[in-house]
Amino acid sequence: MNTNVIENLKAALGEGRVLTGDAIGADFCHDEYPGGNFAPDAVVEAQSTDDVAAVLKICSENEVPVTVRGAGTGQVGGSVPIKGGVVLSVKGMDKILEFNEAERTLRVQPGVLLQDVKSEAESHGLYYPPDPGEKTSTIGGNAATDAGGPCAVKYGSTRDYIVDGVAVLADGSVKKLNDAEEIIGSEGTLGVICELTLRLIDKPKADAILLLPFMDTESCVKAAQTVLGTGCSPAVVDYLDTDIVEFSGNVTGNPVFPVEMDGERVAATLMAVLEGEDDDLVMEQMESIAELAEELECLDILVGDTTTMKRDMWAAHDAFHTSMESGAKNSFEYNITVPAVNIAEMVEWVKAAAEEKGMKAMAYAHVGTGGMHIHIAFDGERDEFKSLINELSPAVYEKCTALGGDIRGEYGIGYAKAPFAGEAGGKLKAAKAELDPKGILNPGKVAD
Ligand SMILES: Cc1cc2nc3c(=O)[nH]c(=O)nc-3n(C[C@H](O)[C@H](O)[C@H](O)COP(=O)(O)OP(=O)(O)OC[C@H]3O[C@@H](n4cnc5c(N)ncnc54)[C@H](O)[C@@H]3O)c2cc1C
Repeated sequence: MNTNVIENLKAALGEGRVLTGDAIGADFCHDEYPGGNFAPDAVVEAQSTDDVAAVLKICSENEVPVTVRGAGTGQVGGSVPIKGGVVLSVKGMDKILEFNEAERTLRVQPGVLLQDVKSEAESHGLYYPPDPGEKTSTIGGNAATDAGGPCAVKYGSTRDYIVDGVAVLADGSVKKLNDAEEIIGSEGTLGVICELTLRLIDKPKADAILLLPFMDTESCVKAAQTVLGTGCSPAVVDYLDTDIVEFSGNVTGNPVFPVEMDGERVAATLMAVLEGEDDDLVMEQMESIAELAEELECLDILVGDTTTMKRDMWAAHDAFHTSMESGAKNSFEYNITVPAVNIAEMVEWVKAAAEEKGMKAMAYAHVGTGGMHIHIAFDGERDEFKSLINELSPAVYEKCTALGGDIRGEYGIGYAKAPFAGEAGGKLKAAKAELDPKGILNPGKVAD
């Protein structure tokens, strides 16, 4: 990169906020995707919308690639500077700017962590529902990936809570987010989100968790669809494969979900979260599901209704991802969405496809939205694992598409899935031609 660009960036932001050479920490070269390290030419630490505008103006004039970075918890390499240039870190833009009681909104900078948005909402007696698994991600990163989680079936994803905001386009011009809505979910390819006004809602006053074990995957997924159709409006309806339940339970020592019943191995468990204005209303919903037990063909109905039980169940659920990383010699995750009716087929297919290659596939899925997390584990050598995954990936994404699914899943495309994206980036490409004609923002990713 031209040294004049570095000098101009330093002049605009101050020497200390432009890092080059050895001053660039290793964390800026990767995210949570295991695809290797890519060093940028410079890291620029923005603290305000004006900083972002100044950086983009300089980079646009010099056609320097810019990769925006929040907390770097992405799973698809979205914040990784695979084409070099500048990493624009907005993590330091971490101020909660305003709570508007009348409007029930929270105005924040993009570097505020999701966990802090949630606790700020709670401090005002309100609720910010989106629940992607990683609570140390930034709210800007959540907006850029339109992050969602298990409760998206009832509450939707990040996009559904954005009232307005401020974004900076590639040429440094500042826009109201409502005038450039395509930026939400565009994974940093269309503009930089610099401010967000978020809608808060009332938090349900009571909840309980039901666990329904099944002898086969298909019955479990079918039951999930039946539960969704009851009108209970559950906040979570997750399919949990016993293989992942068992693996994770062994790693954490917190075996909460059933693995065997009456000496027989359970194939899967349905985890449903019911909510209501009070305990009686939650109890009514539990009873209506219990009445369906025979039709659902579940082996039992286990209830988590104390604070400790619910905490333990959520801890076990949240540990699937991390225990795979810490407990498997090699692991890799596919995150896709598949229509609910095809989840069982996808699970059975990927288990067989992985087994054929000497690997083991384990999964869980948010049945209402079709969001699937498929983890592949392998005991052999790292290099062999890499080539086996390289062979498996095209088949997984092809199968997902054939089943009417979307390879974006919850995590997005980044560079990890870009070779398989096909039409998934089509709309973004059209918007990019208008908003970032020089193609400086996050090149080599979903919109290329
Ligand atoms: C254990 C674990 C569990 C996870 N579970 C979920 C889950 O359930 N659901 C889910 O959706 N994701 C999940 N994720 C993925 C990740 O946490 C989300 O994608 C999150 O939204 C990324 O936020 P971040 O601040 O880390 O963004 P980064 O990783 O820094 O960036 C992500 C993308 O957003 C862009 N970006 C970041 N900030 C901005 C900004 N201000 N303006 C414009 N573009 C920006 C980047 O360029 C990049 O393309 C999980 C990750 C982990 C490690």
